[in-house]
Amino acid sequence: MKILIIGNGAAAISGAKAVRQMNRDWEIELLSDEVHPFYSRVMLPDYLAGNIRRTDLYLVDWDFYRDLGIKATLGAQVEALEPKLARVITASGQRIHYDLLLIASGAGPVLPGVEGINLKGVFTLRSIDDVEAIRRYLQSTNVERAIIVGGGLVSLRTAEAFHKLGIPTTIVVSSSRLMSQTLDEASSEALLRAVRKAGHEVLLNEDVTAFYGTTHLRGAKLASGGKAAGQLALIGKGVRPRLSLVEGTSIAVDRGILVDEYLRTSIPKIYAAGDVTQSYDLIRKRRVCNGIWPSAVRQGRIAGCNMAGLSISDEGDLPMNSVHVFGCSICSLGVLAGDETYVRGSLRDNNYRKLVFSGSQLVGALFWGSLRDAGRCYWLLRTGRRPTGGTLPPVWDGMPLGRC
Ligand SMILES: Cc1cc2nc3c(=O)[nH]c(=O)nc-3n(C[C@H](O)[C@H](O)[C@H](O)COP(=O)(O)OP(=O)(O)OC[C@H]3O[C@@H](n4cnc5c(N)ncnc54)[C@H](O)[C@@H]3O)c2cc1C
Repeated sequence: MKILIIGNGAAAISGAKAVRQMNRDWEIELLSDEVHPFYSRVMLPDYLAGNIRRTDLYLVDWDFYRDLGIKATLGAQVEALEPKLARVITASGQRIHYDLLLIASGAGPVLPGVEGINLKGVFTLRSIDDVEAIRRYLQSTNVERAIIVGGGLVSLRTAEAFHKLGIPTTIVVSSSRLMSQTLDEASSEALLRAVRKAGHEVLLNEDVTAFYGTTHLRGAKLASGGKAAGQLALIGKGVRPRLSLVEGTSIAVDRGILVDEYLRTSIPKIYAAGDVTQSYDLIRKRRVCNGIWPSAVRQGRIAGCNMAGLSISDEGDLPMNSVHVFGCSICSLGVLAGDETYVRGSLRDNNYRKLVFSGSQLVGALFWGSLRDAGRCYWLLRTGRRPTGGTLPPVWDGMPLGRC
């Protein structure tokens, strides 16, 4: 039996490990268009900032693949799938057969279709190679100011990295607040104050309509008619599942590859896991692209177990973000829109907590400062259990927990 895995990220590695734990003999081959051992994308901003070395990013070494008997074919881009022939085709023309296939090709940055996007100095941040390219550019070019497009987690962590490098930034955010998908208005406002206090310019309700420069970036034109000067731009407008390799197949796709609770795609013998999928969201009760590390790990593991012959179902995902940025510790779980909202503590005292209910069901929670009880809330959200006085400690007094 040959297991073929496309990818070398969190979902791919969890899948490979699960298959190997279940079966010692099957052949496992992993194909990736990157050339590095499995590494942490989450820590890329720390590497950019110079807080850690490149080797600190690596989550396994080369022995890992050898010890688990995994053939890692790196630097190999899969261009097409031929499900009827049970094989994939790489960019170099190799045809590789499988008995079972796991697609764990992740997601790639969304690029706005604006003029000047290909100028030297415009970057995204998804891979080690992206960071290396930014570092080389910083060494060879006099970057006095950077422009960051987007106000989400990756954008802000990159702004913090630039801050550490002594580069002031202009952050251009199309919505009316920072981390609008993750924070409520009050906490977003507090984060905005922290970012501005650190010396960065934040332009809300603003868009980049074009980048300008001759060969190298000199700045961005803004929707409001103004300009933002900058010799380096970082696009942080979110990610999109990497689906090009399934184009032309009958694998069912919406925004991502559609998988069932066993992580099976619509084609027999082909599974998918991680950022490339669109999977069931426990809170929103529909299939969404969540794009977070813990989901990729969990899905990879479940897919691997099922490929190895078990029958484990994945209950689903929930939105989750935990980050420490510009001195603010934030954990956001589920969705922050509901019928009833209960707030305790304050942002100023660094102990802000919010629970959001829809009917009697907890649908979201936000922690600022102390993240105590975030784990408990995560568990309540995942299991759909109703909080009781005994489930959450007295710090939640006054919230309608006993009633629920
Ligand atoms: C800067 C940054 C910060 C982040 N911070 C957080 C965070 O704080 N918390 C959190 O939960 N998540 C965070 N994430 C998201 C998290 O890293 C992803 O959810 C996770 O990496 C997804 O894992 P994956 O295995 O599905 O995909 P990926 O890690 O993207 O791996 C995909 C793999 O597939 C390979 N591949 C793709 N297409 C092909 C092809 N055609 N042929 C061959 N190989 C291919 C790629 O080379 C790669 O090895 C962050 C991401 C970034 C970039």
